[in-house]
Amino acid sequence: TPVIEFDAVRKVYPDGTVAVHELSLDVREHELLALVGPSGCGKSTTLRMANRLVEPTGGRILLEGTDVTHADPVALRRRIGYVIQNVGLFPHRTVGQNVGTVPRLLGWDKKRTAARTAELLALVGLDPDTYARRYPHELSGGERQRVGVARALATDPPVLLMDEPFGAVDPAGRRRLQAEFRRIQQEVGTTVMFVTHDIEEAVQLGDRVAVFSVGGHLEQLAEPLTVLAH
Ligand code: ADP
Ligand code: ADP
Repeated sequence: TPVIEFDAVRKVYPDGTVAVHELSLDVREHELLALVGPSGCGKSTTLRMANRLVEPTGGRILLEGTDVTHADPVALRRRIGYVIQNVGLFPHRTVGQNVGTVPRLLGWDKKRTAARTAELLALVGLDPDTYARRYPHELSGGERQRVGVARALATDPPVLLMDEPFGAVDPAGRRRLQAEFRRIQQEVGTTVMFVTHDIEEAVQLGDRVAVFSVGGHLEQLAEPLTVLAH
C-alpha cells in the first residue's frame, strides 16, 4: 500500500488560481519521489497539502490509509518531517536546541534528547561537539540546511517532505549534501517526497520523478531514465 495517496486532489486558492488540478499520485514506501516543474506549477501546494498546511479544495489525501483532513495535526507532524529552503531554524536557539525542539515538546527528557541530537548531527555530518552550541547565524548555508534535515528527522518520521531542500547551498556543497542525504534516506528507510525546479536534481536523486506543468497538471510520473528520454 502507498504511504501517501493523492486521489483526484484539487486546489483552487480563494483568488481563483488553480494550483493543483485533479492530482492522483501514490508515494511508495521507502521511495524518494521528486516533484519537478517550472515555478508556479503547484509543487509546493501539493507538498503542503500532504502536511495539512494547505487544505485541498477537492479530492482526498491518505497518509498510511488515513484521510489527513481527519488527522490530529500534532499526530500528523510526528509522522511527517518537513524541510524547507532556508530551513527556518529558530534564530535564538542553538543548533542542539533546534534539533531537540520537537523531542522536548513530545516529553523526552534532556538526556534522551541530547543523545538523539548528537546522533542526528553526526548523521548529517556535523560534529556535535563543534556544532551543538552554535547559533544558526554562526553556520554556512549548507550547514544550516544540514541542521534542518537533522531537525526534521528528530522523531524518526516515516515520511519526509522537502521543499527545495538544497536550494540555498552553493553548487559544490550541494552535491555533497545531496549524496549525504541519499545515503541517510537509504539507511533510515524514510519515504521522501521532495520538490525541486531543477530537472537534473530530480533525475539524480529521485527513484521516480513526477513532472508537473503550469496549471497544476501532472504530466508524467516515471523512473528517471524514462523522464530523460521523454
Ligand atoms: P510551485 O511550488 O510549483 O512554484 P505553488 O504551489 O507555490 O507552485 O503555486 C502554484 C500556483 O498557486 C501559483 O500560480 C501560485 O501563484 C499560486 N499560489 C500559491 N500560493 C497561493 C496563495 N496562498 N494564494 C493564492 N495563490 C497562491
Ligand atoms: P541548554 O543550556 O538549553 O541545554 P545548549 O545549547 O547547551 O542549551 O544545548 C541544547 C541542546 O543541545 C541540549 O538539549 C542537548 O541536547 C544538545 N547538546 C548540547 N551540547 C551537545 C553536545 N556536545 N553533543 C550533543 N548534544 C548537545
